[in-house]
Order: sequence, then structure tokens, then C-alpha cells
Amino acid sequence: MDGEVVRPRLQPLAALSAEVARGLVGILTDIDDTLTLHGRIVPAAFDAMARARAAGLAIVPVTGRPAGWCDHVARMWPCEGVVGENGGLWFYMHEGKLVRAFAQSAEVRAHNAARLHTVREAVLREVPGCALASDQPYRELDLAVDFCEDVAALPDAAIDQILAVFARFGATAKASSIHVNGWFGEFDKLSGFFGLCSDLGLPSQAERWAYAGDSANDAPMFAHFPASVGVANVVRWLPRIPTPPAFVTEGEGGHGFAQLVDRILELRS
Ligand SMILES: [Mg+2]
Repeated sequence: MDGEVVRPRLQPLAALSAEVARGLVGILTDIDDTLTLHGRIVPAAFDAMARARAAGLAIVPVTGRPAGWCDHVARMWPCEGVVGENGGLWFYMHEGKLVRAFAQSAEVRAHNAARLHTVREAVLREVPGCALASDQPYRELDLAVDFCEDVAALPDAAIDQILAVFARFGATAKASSIHVNGWFGEFDKLSGFFGLCSDLGLPSQAERWAYAGDSANDAPMFAHFPASVGVANVVRWLPRIPTPPAFVTEGEGGHGFAQLVDRILELRS
């Protein structure tokens, strides 16, 4: 482990230091089961995003949700921009107009869409009980397979089976708390974050951002950011997260996110 800093993981929020909180330019946050609980945005979490911005912090949701959702989030939520489809795209407002940026060219996206169609047929044929995610028509780069949202919840073995089908076709796949998302290409939530920072001229150093998440598709973010935070329900997904978050909240979903914002604002005041 030469040269590698080994940090304690899963500490209570009380262990977050004022020095770290004061060095932040913003907070990155997953959406499903991090801002939401049981499928709905927790009002305190939405309010916390607005309060953080009013206190001078940037807010950027980073999600596996589709381009269609990101259009809405970038336009209407209290945020600087949004990273969607697990880093495949990032949308933001510039001089009152929506900018839509993608990790891949339109040609590459069209080519990959045809390849994903083949994967889709195989997944639906081989894994009983799963379905295309209801938000699939609004996606630009990935294929989302529902194992929990609008279908009866499938066992963990079925999630592994879906992941294995994507792998067999050479696709990247990540499980969120509700979908398995798969795509062709190298992007992930972290690379999408770098793309957005570059476009917006925001600093992208790891110590300048806190990250809040809850599941396996947040793993690259938990490993990268020293102030990585899991909301309480992250415990359910720890077996699929190689590097657990540095901190964990007491509250579940959006309640935990609101606790994180409260703690950061308190330490900065
Ligand atoms: Mg999530």
C-alpha cells in the first residue's frame, strides 16, 4: 500500500472536520435513494440543496437517470448542472439556455444504440422478471434494466445475472438501487463530473467536493472523494462497493442528505 493514504471509512458525520467543510466548493449528490426515500424526493433534501446554494456552495446531482430527466433537473432544480446516465452526459444552463454535453459523439451513440439493442434482447430473454426501465425511452447512451422500480423486486442473484449478460457483450454495467444500467464506452459518474467541471470552469480537485450516494453505481465516487458520504441505506449495498464511503449518515435517503448539508453549513459558519 506504499504511497496510498488509508482513510477510515463509514465514520459518523460528527467526524467530518471544519477544515474539510470550509475547503469545499460544492456538494455532488446521487438522486435515487439519496435525495429520495421510497421513490419520492424528501422535501428537507430539496430544501437543503437550495440552502447550500444560498450559502455559496455549488450543487450538482450525479445520477444514472436519463437525459430526459436531466433536461428537467438542469432547468428547474437548485443546482449548477447535472451529470446523467452514469456520466454519459452533463446538462447545464448557460445564459438562460440549456447546454447538453455528451461523453460520446452522435455517431458513436447511434452505433452503440444498435449494439445495446442486441444486449437488451438477451437480458429480457435470459433473466425472468426483469423489464426495460420505464424511463428507457428518454435515454441517449445506456440501457436500463429494472429489477425493483416498476417490477416485483428480484433477488440479488438476478441482479448478478443481468450484470453478467452485459459483461458477456463487452458492455460496462453498474447496479443502482433500482436498475442495472449498461453502456458501451469508458465513462462513469466520475468522468462525467470532470466533464461538467471543465465546461463550467469549476475546480475539480477531490478535496473541493463532498459526494453523497447510496449504492454500487456510486462506488467510483466513494473511492475518489475524501468527503464521500453514504446515506444510511448504503449499508444494504456495501457488499457491491469495493471502497465504502468515508462517512455515513444516521438518516436514510433524503433525510441523510439533509443531515449532511446541515453539518457542512454548521462547520462553515
Ligand atoms: Mg442511488
